[in-house]
Amino acid sequence: MTTVVTEKLPRERGSASASFSLTRKRVVIIGGGFAGIAAARALRKADVEVILIDRRNHHIFQPLLYQVATAVLAPSEIATPIRQLEAKQKNLDVVLAEVTGVSLSARVVEVIYPRLGTRKLGFDYLIVATGMRPSYFGHDEFALHAPGLKRLNDAETIRTKILSAFELAEATENETECARQMTFVLVGAGPTGVELAASIAQMVSITLRNNFRSIDPANSRIILLDGGSRILPSFAEPLSKKVVRRLTRLGVEVRTGLKVETVDEQGVIASGERIASATVLWTAGVAASPVVKMLGTKTDRAGRALVGPFMEIQEAGDVFVAGDASSLTQDGHAVPGVAQAAIQQGRFVGRLIANRVKGRKDGRPFLYRSKGNMAVVGKNFAILETGRLRTSGFATWIVWAVLHVLALPQLQNRFRVQTQWFWSYLTGQRSSRLIAEAPRAVELIKQKTGS
Ligand SMILES: Cc1cc2nc3c(=O)[nH]c(=O)nc-3n(C[C@H](O)[C@H](O)[C@H](O)COP(=O)(O)OP(=O)(O)OC[C@H]3O[C@@H](n4cnc5c(N)ncnc54)[C@H](O)[C@@H]3O)c2cc1C
Repeated sequence: MTTVVTEKLPRERGSASASFSLTRKRVVIIGGGFAGIAAARALRKADVEVILIDRRNHHIFQPLLYQVATAVLAPSEIATPIRQLEAKQKNLDVVLAEVTGVSLSARVVEVIYPRLGTRKLGFDYLIVATGMRPSYFGHDEFALHAPGLKRLNDAETIRTKILSAFELAEATENETECARQMTFVLVGAGPTGVELAASIAQMVSITLRNNFRSIDPANSRIILLDGGSRILPSFAEPLSKKVVRRLTRLGVEVRTGLKVETVDEQGVIASGERIASATVLWTAGVAASPVVKMLGTKTDRAGRALVGPFMEIQEAGDVFVAGDASSLTQDGHAVPGVAQAAIQQGRFVGRLIANRVKGRKDGRPFLYRSKGNMAVVGKNFAILETGRLRTSGFATWIVWAVLHVLALPQLQNRFRVQTQWFWSYLTGQRSSRLIAEAPRAVELIKQKTGS
């Protein structure tokens, strides 16, 4: 196997580190999410050159994105620069670029650097860990009016949309328009939809109390829609029923069995019913990132690569797909698209490559060990399912909070998130209530006149 070096990285151009050598095998990792970072760390002591490519300069702790979208946390509290996170790993180069092509036969990855253009990077081993993106089930036009929640900008867009809706409701003299501004529709009742709906409900009843003069935010309608027969299908039915009761108590209208047919400027049409809403949020489907398609390998219906027992693709034994972008069945069940599965897979592939480089045989195939499934439903209430154990309530919420703080990648983030949560818990205030872009004056005038 020969290393294809088609482009030089900064350290090859002379700012060199003594540990760098062109004779070493090169591992290219695409994606600095949970799987990519875990893979890179597992290769820390391996005699390889590791290149981690991501189109963003930061790693996002996605489980807390909904808190950025609802003003509890600021973006920097859940995101960490990848360079800072991996600064101590001497055999690693971080490349800020978007992967636009992969050639398995030429063993190169094509990337576009911001402002520098296209380049090619050769690899001996390739790990694709590019995650998922929101899927609108063939209706990409819905995205214009119903943002999904995946990146930091999505969370900021949602936060701006929610906070602006109250400003516009306060400004208008038209009652119908006021009601439309104060109606929030969430499409998709998986964990993200549930967590977001509960957080908006507590924001309107506690955080925004007494902040407006002509409207009472507590009169908002928050509607959680799902096409399935029940919410949270990844949890046991008794837990999903408990969550419905909890959401109802918080003021969320849970409506299942409704199929969304249209999303437009006026709101949604679901199973023939028009719901007027200025804020529609998409928390429904996901599809694999387009990078998987570039491999030309077999995929499942969501575009995830069907991988073998060592997380490798069928076409090449040294090309791996890890994390959400992979599709693997274990004991008749699909390995879920959650952070712990991505971390375990990334670590597994990293160790496997480290072993191969040493000339050792592959060990056992990948085995996912679930530590349980959790979701939080506002303040003081979370659910947990692990094996046969199912718990819910305040104690579970404490466990959720502790686990999430500990899972944040840096001490600085842990400290800041804890402080914000503590303050928010005591006062009900949220520290990040910024409207990134104010509602346009013309829109405000329209609200005022009701035209
Ligand atoms: C809102 C939300 C809430 C969640 N809550 C939970 C939870 O509570 N618990 C839980 O366990 N899981 C949760 N998840 C799921 C969990 O975050 C994912 O399973 C996990 O992030 C998957 O890790 P990954 O490394 O496969 O992909 P990701 O973490 O998505 O990382 C993919 C990386 O690839 C990069 N990338 C993509 N395409 C390219 C390209 N062409 N070029 C360069 N870089 C590229 C992206 O920039 C990104 O950094 C949640 C997910 C979301 C969206």
